[in-house]
Amino acid sequence: MKRNYQKELDSLLRGLDGKAPLLLLHACCAPCSSYVLEYLSEYFQITLFYYNPNISPLTEYKKRMEEVKRLISELPVKYPVRFQEGTYDAERFFALAKGHEQEPEGGERCFACYALRLEEAAQAANAGGFDYFTTTLSISPYKNAEKLNEIGSALEKKYGVRYLPSDFKKRNGYKRSIELSAQYNLYRQDYCGCVFSKAERDRRLKVKNFST
Ligand code: SF4
Repeated sequence: MKRNYQKELDSLLRGLDGKAPLLLLHACCAPCSSYVLEYLSEYFQITLFYYNPNISPLTEYKKRMEEVKRLISELPVKYPVRFQEGTYDAERFFALAKGHEQEPEGGERCFACYALRLEEAAQAANAGGFDYFTTTLSISPYKNAEKLNEIGSALEKKYGVRYLPSDFKKRNGYKRSIELSAQYNLYRQDYCGCVFSKAERDRRLKVKNFST
């Protein structure tokens, strides 16, 4: 039976009963973090974990990170949000992408990319004594929420930290992230992050420019 991650999350949030557990929230960028922080900071003490060795080039990685930090400093939240940067170990990403370089976004390379980032988050959550971990990634219409939740559930068992089931694009989450991005004037990148998605973006632009 198909799982309804939003309903699972609703039920979990009801069960918190006013307590504010510690959540390690993996985040890829400020626009995706905006709605998720607005939503979850009502319920959790959040540490935002920026672990994205997939992002190329390094200047882009840093630019996205600075926007995340600015968002945290400007967004009004019930419980203060902390920030933690992971390691920019880009060679780990390139090793897992090997043989999948030409695949379009949404395939096996992306699933391995989700797993890399979620596993690092699960490890950090375990090491930091967090109650839960999850990721902002499911807010994007281009990301596979089923796969993300499948990976998260497996890591929950492996590392003994609960995974917060989620599909943040539901309940107009994606729409709200666009509104918040405009409100806070957030930098919205036009490619997912890796060098392969950047090349895909460049090809798209070339075709567009050629046909106009
Ligand atoms: S397209 Fe995005 S999700 Fe897929 S491998 Fe590249 S950075 Fe990761």
